[in-house]
Amino acid sequence: MSELTTLQHFIDGRWVEPASGEYFESTNPATREFLYRAARGNAVDIERAVAAAREAFEDPRWRDLSQTRRGHLLRRLGDLIAENAEDLARMETKDNGKLLREMRGQLATLPEYYYYYAGLADKIHGDFIPTSDRQVLNYTAREPLGVVGAITPWNSPLTLTSSKLAPALCAGNTVVIKPSEYTSATVLKLAELALDAGFPPGAVNVVTGFGAEAGQALVDHRDLAKISFTGSTATGARIAATTASRFIGSTLELGGKSPNIVFEDANLPNAAMGIVAGIFAAAGQTCIAGSRVFAHRSVYEELLARVCERARTIVIGDPLDEKTELGPLAFEGQRDKVAGYVDLGRGEGARVLTGGRATDGGLGGWFYEPTVLVDVDNSMRVVREEIFGPVLAVMPFDTEDEVVRLANDTDYGLAAGVWTTNLARAHRMAARLDAGTVWVNTYRAMSPMSPRQGFKTSGVGVEHGTETIKEYTRLKSVWINTSEEPVADPFTMRS
Ligand code: NDP
Repeated sequence: MSELTTLQHFIDGRWVEPASGEYFESTNPATREFLYRAARGNAVDIERAVAAAREAFEDPRWRDLSQTRRGHLLRRLGDLIAENAEDLARMETKDNGKLLREMRGQLATLPEYYYYYAGLADKIHGDFIPTSDRQVLNYTAREPLGVVGAITPWNSPLTLTSSKLAPALCAGNTVVIKPSEYTSATVLKLAELALDAGFPPGAVNVVTGFGAEAGQALVDHRDLAKISFTGSTATGARIAATTASRFIGSTLELGGKSPNIVFEDANLPNAAMGIVAGIFAAAGQTCIAGSRVFAHRSVYEELLARVCERARTIVIGDPLDEKTELGPLAFEGQRDKVAGYVDLGRGEGARVLTGGRATDGGLGGWFYEPTVLVDVDNSMRVVREEIFGPVLAVMPFDTEDEVVRLANDTDYGLAAGVWTTNLARAHRMAARLDAGTVWVNTYRAMSPMSPRQGFKTSGVGVEHGTETIKEYTRLKSVWINTSEEPVADPFTMRS
């Protein structure tokens, strides 16, 4: 695909031109160079894709495939991703500016998403329920939902799509994906690999385009059994309103403003590195960014000095270069949003200790310096709102109770970090923090085996782990009367 400059939708196992005949352009954010043009999807394209997915769902080739065979296909897809890892990594780096070395790391673990769900595929089953009436057999069955719509953002398209695609297919559903308009290429390639792996045509479909057009049409489609969405809280709220009114399920992985808390007994060099990883890796464009740091007053100055020293030496530049540590923001609007927030912070009274400027990275791209803000508090918008860029707000605290209150004083609840060598305190904090993921003495660790869930406005439903299977199946209860006896009393309920 690297040589192709025009990308079509992938529907029913074929490349399909957009119904409108229109395309939009994608640009390398590090250089502003043209990358490709992609099909501009609309409701007609979504209709085609959902119809193909519905047909595939009902086709005996998929519906009657044994669960073990489903697992084989997932394993094969994982293998194909591994075989294409370098191409996929480079493609995604060019599309969204993520460091190639980070992408190589992501691609090294991405096959595991498929291997994990390959192993689960033939372990999905119902139960026998021993009700008190021994003449009635009651059992449950876990059934696939049908056509699942997956809508994903631009910051980690392959990984975030796989978090949905692998469990959805594992459970026997078919899928229509609408990737972010900024990152269509790798998701299309993933769908092609799924076909190569042996998934039937129509099992995995991709309609590229804009959220307001293709995305909205997918959410509105009557034949959809579920939406699995990763993106902003604002879009998630709109999607949740639609799915609620149609009584279909949604899994929503949304925004965050995660605290990273450093106690006086922490290993400070490690904590400083964890903070840098939490906010400057991926140029801060991660939902789990540790964008608020609370440091105990006794170590506040030393920690700040360590973080700022590292932030100032971060190598900004070409994300394809192995030496680069900070790539561009994914597109111009995102760079402007980050710059706007730092200006807003200055206006609110924040002091910029380091960074605070847009740069072209020497390549003409949309970069922003690693930025540390102090003299901030929970009343300010730069502390309350998700910036989704390399901007860190650092605040001191005095007591454990105080920092629990400050850390939890947010609309979000995605993740939190705690740095301490006190074991009892680590457990206390893990219990008291209002976040779906808590890391102690580490940050930004993730595995397809470990469930993750956003609390509060950070989301609804679970991704990863065995729990996810419940998100992609429905439970049916079957009652079978094994007695030949006449019904004694039709006016009382059997139990
Ligand atoms: P958006 O919510 O703007 O977009 C996410 C996806 O939804 C895109 O594909 C977008 O299309 C689409 N979309 C937009 N509007 C609609 C609509 N009305 N109906 C259906 N689909 C629509 O988020 P961003 O792409 O800006 O991603 C950044 C956000 O994602 C951040 O808030 C971040 O926290 C969150 N995120 C959460 C993660 C988590 O696991 N909790 C992980 C990673 C990111 P288009 O691109 O064309 O607008």
